Amino acid sequence: MREHDLRCTAPRLAVLSVLVEADARGEHHLTAARIHERLVERRRDVDLTTVYRTVSTLVGVGVVHALAVDENVSTYGLAAQPHHHAVCTRCGAIIEVPAEQLSAALSQASQGTGFLLSDRAGLTLHGLCPGCRATAAD
Ligand SMILES: [Zn+2]
Ligand SMILES: [Zn+2]
Repeated sequence: MREHDLRCTAPRLAVLSVLVEADARGEHHLTAARIHERLVERRRDVDLTTVYRTVSTLVGVGVVHALAVDENVSTYGLAAQPHHHAVCTRCGAIIEVPAEQLSAALSQASQGTGFLLSDRAGLTLHGLCPGCRATAAD
């Protein structure tokens, strides 16, 4: 956070620690409501408005990035590693795909379209996550 010249206010640290913990468990993105829930579980006195304001500050400095899963819901995840997202169309699970795994595809797409494609969370792929694939096969 110091790198970004941000004051380490209590809500910022609290929101970041929720995201870091979720990330360590493989939950890469959380909605603001979810972040708020987790803060309440930890008896942090942070209201939902503050959570929204805090995540947008963190997005602004590039520590966190936002991913819209549908028109009305945004989720937030750590932006430390460049990555793309795969979203499960059935359960909404979000899986991060390291950017380098798709860089060849991206540069081919760039050549084909003349479009300069961003390496930083530029792509969202849709499909079925492993859990849903397993149940879909039944
Ligand atoms: Zn992400
Ligand atoms: Zn799924």
